[in-house]
Amino acid sequence: MIGKKNNTLYIDGCNAVKLAQEYGTPLYVYSESDIVGKCREIRECFLNKYPNTRAAYASKAFSSLAMYKIIEREGLCLDVVSGGELYTAIKANFPAEKIEFNGNNKLFSEIELAVDYGIGRIIVDGLNELDLIEQVCKRKKKKINILYRITPEVESDSHDYIVTGKKDSKFGIPLDEDVISYHIEKAIQSEYVNFLGFHFHVGSQLHDNTSHLAALETSLKLVEQCKKQYNYTIKELNVGGGFGIRYNDEDHKKPYPYFLEPIMARIEEFSQQIGIERPAVVIEPGRSIVGEAGTTLHTIGSIKNIKGIRKYVSIDGGMTDNIRPALYQAKYEGIMANKMGDSKTEKVTICGKCCESGDILIKDINIAHPEPGDIFAIFSTGAYGYSMASNYNKNNIPAVVLVNKGKDYLIVKRQTYDDMIRNELIPDSLK
Ligand SMILES: *Cc1c(COP(=O)(O)O)cnc(C)c1O
Repeated sequence: MIGKKNNTLYIDGCNAVKLAQEYGTPLYVYSESDIVGKCREIRECFLNKYPNTRAAYASKAFSSLAMYKIIEREGLCLDVVSGGELYTAIKANFPAEKIEFNGNNKLFSEIELAVDYGIGRIIVDGLNELDLIEQVCKRKKKKINILYRITPEVESDSHDYIVTGKKDSKFGIPLDEDVISYHIEKAIQSEYVNFLGFHFHVGSQLHDNTSHLAALETSLKLVEQCKKQYNYTIKELNVGGGFGIRYNDEDHKKPYPYFLEPIMARIEEFSQQIGIERPAVVIEPGRSIVGEAGTTLHTIGSIKNIKGIRKYVSIDGGMTDNIRPALYQAKYEGIMANKMGDSKTEKVTICGKCCESGDILIKDINIAHPEPGDIFAIFSTGAYGYSMASNYNKNNIPAVVLVNKGKDYLIVKRQTYDDMIRNELIPDSLK
């Protein structure tokens, strides 16, 4: 919900420059209307269209109490990948049965927390994990629903660091016949788990549905194997997330139905072919729900012009509030929030304040004439920005504000210097 009034950027009806003055910068600003709009889209084109479907917000994209409240209100389920995210969900009173737990190395303590809270599903990444779950469930006299995450052995067209479905991946159970059969048998026989089905997640920021569809074929083969070999009917298939968003002009974003319609058609067809009821189908969108809803506001400080080479414009944050450009060459667009109408006469590089030459947020962008004190806004920072923020150089993690039709709400306070040293101790020997 980006707008412009009197040369100033507005986000969901709020004056961005005023937000920067009121809350300070760097500042993450999330448009609630945008988040709600995405959830509505998912309801309309998926949840309401096909019975027996669920959408679990992959909350590692942006995890906070307020966000979990929005997700619950909008009727979605929640995917967590750590004890910390699960704890946040518990503190937000998120309904346990609507939570699923992913991750390639869940800790014993995390599984205990999940079983104690009685979450809906654990997506199991291997036999070691199944052992841990059985130990926990046995001790607590409980039974839990599980799916197996498989490595679908597909290549995806995305940055190597966000491709998760290829054979050489730390995620999922390998497809080797003996390995997968052993897993299936174990799960079917276990008295502590209720084995529902299979899960895959092929990667992130995808604009092409071929890897989803290829991975789906692999899952369906396993569904068939379960029926033929074990007379076991699979009740649920989880096709992951990865639906791409628009960061800049290079991104040719596709709507949800582009991915979901062929997936659903294929599962329906296949279920009829082998004579089973269509399994429940679950998606796990993360980035696509919050990515475009987030904007980061920074204040411009130092400006260094290297004649004939480059003009560096430094902002009061950087890789500590958005590591994606440094981590996987992610490209962003931005604008001067207080000079929206001015012509973009200068080509500059927006860099952070961290002691790393790689701390560059946007290389070669055309903007209006920059001066210290200007507010620079970077768009589509809602996913994996705040959630990947760090205290490198002991920069404090920025505040997060939710905006909605002209109103603003602080949902995460800015970290203070004291917050950062709260857990630090000086041993007597150094006093
Ligand atoms: C990260 C992740 C997602 C969400 O991916 P997005 O690209 O943010 O939609 C879904 N499922 C699993 C298992 C993940 O690890």
